[in-house]
Amino acid sequence: MKEKKYYHDYCAGCGLCCEVTDNSVMKIEDDGFYYPEDYNEEVLEVCRRVCPVNGRELDDMSKSEIWGEYKGKYLGWSTDSEIRYMASSGGVLTALCKYILENDLADGILQFAESEENVTLGKLYCTTDPNDLIKRCGSRYCSSMTFSGIRKYLEDDKRYVFVGKPCDVRILHNYLKDNEKLKDKFVYKLSFFCAGAPSEKANLSLLKKLNCPDKSGCTKLRYRGSGWPGYSTAWSEEGETGRLDYRSSWRDTLGRDIRKICRFCVDGVGELADVACGDAWYLLPDGEPDCSEHEGRNFIFSRNERGDELVKAASEAGYIKTEGEASLEKLRQAQKYQFMRKAAMKHRLFGLKAAFRKTPSYPKGFFDEFDKMIDSNKKLHIFYGTWKRVLQGKI
Ligand SMILES: Cc1cc2nc3c(=O)[nH]c(=O)nc-3n(C[C@H](O)[C@H](O)[C@H](O)COP(=O)(O)OP(=O)(O)OC[C@H]3O[C@@H](n4cnc5c(N)ncnc54)[C@H](O)[C@@H]3O)c2cc1C
Ligand code: SF4
Ligand code: SF4
Repeated sequence: MKEKKYYHDYCAGCGLCCEVTDNSVMKIEDDGFYYPEDYNEEVLEVCRRVCPVNGRELDDMSKSEIWGEYKGKYLGWSTDSEIRYMASSGGVLTALCKYILENDLADGILQFAESEENVTLGKLYCTTDPNDLIKRCGSRYCSSMTFSGIRKYLEDDKRYVFVGKPCDVRILHNYLKDNEKLKDKFVYKLSFFCAGAPSEKANLSLLKKLNCPDKSGCTKLRYRGSGWPGYSTAWSEEGETGRLDYRSSWRDTLGRDIRKICRFCVDGVGELADVACGDAWYLLPDGEPDCSEHEGRNFIFSRNERGDELVKAASEAGYIKTEGEASLEKLRQAQKYQFMRKAAMKHRLFGLKAAFRKTPSYPKGFFDEFDKMIDSNKKLHIFYGTWKRVLQGKI
């Protein structure tokens, strides 16, 4: 019972345990998040191996480099102006996928994108036609069950690229570790920076703000893109119903209601992907990120030799444009949240423990070096804030 509660409370909603056992289904609960309906023994057996709350994959991650291991770090964007405009940031992920498909480096791209059947959810696609990539670019700020529907691709003899959130890539990493025959299945794993997966409730609030109070009347919902960062926009049969700027939609609406595991997530920067991209925000004179409209630009980490070769080959072939070495100092300013998430984790976990809550089972000592990167006042603030929020029932 305790074990079921542990995996339930810290579920990332990926859907893999239900998908590969065929023994449970993902169901939405009152809090607006999806969870396995039945944590039976078969499902639990998968959870023990793959769930991010166990931190099994941390053994393969850097204990000292806050941004994770990398081979190259670049600023860049897609050279295809339509992709650059429609994509989440600069469209580098979509451009890499296009390069891969057009050069026959994989049979398909497994990616999560919008769905007409459920506008606040989305679904997994296998994209084989490069012309379809543009329809599937952009961020989905929802409960993305990235692995729901993946089984048939795991069982065929084709080779794929997987695009997913950092936790999806970590879950896949753990799953592949125990499946020797899937070793060569994924030619590349691509990821992006991620601050959290918002609930269905947060999505419904967003729809309301976009003058689409009834979900069934909404025919399409885009969270950003069509510019950088672009606007959250909803449509009904009659046309566009409303739009909200990035801060109002993410910071004031969606980002307020994310999964519990997101608050204790160890990697929001795709450390175990071959390539991971984030928003390369410009900085205002006061050092704060400038989220006003610009032409899209990605921060790109190539995480290993393979990833770096891919970025360089796509650049040489003219799919993306990269600009030399990116600055980690500027990244730290532009992505403060991602820096703090890891640096503050040790004291966030202390706060949870002090409130007598079960903590994730991350390896002992994993956060020691990161913890040295912030001062004592900050640590105390994080500890107290977490403890208080847990007791107030906010976490
Ligand atoms: C939940 C979420 C949180 C994010 N938080 C941050 C953040 O903290 N900092 C930051 O810099 N950027 C964040 N982003 C945005 C993302 O990191 C940038 O879009 C990144 O720079 C990639 O840009 P791009 O233009 O190359 O992507 P695109 O070319 O638009 O490609 C995006 C790819 O991501 C896939 N995808 C979109 N949504 C999901 C999803 N929910 N689950 C799985 N796959 C998905 C799409 O299929 C597509 O292949 C977040 C995105 C999401 C979905
Ligand atoms: S994180 Fe994924 S594998 Fe773990 S319980 Fe949730 S749905 Fe299942
Ligand atoms: S914050 Fe972490 S756990 Fe949450 S969706 Fe993003 S990568 Fe997954």
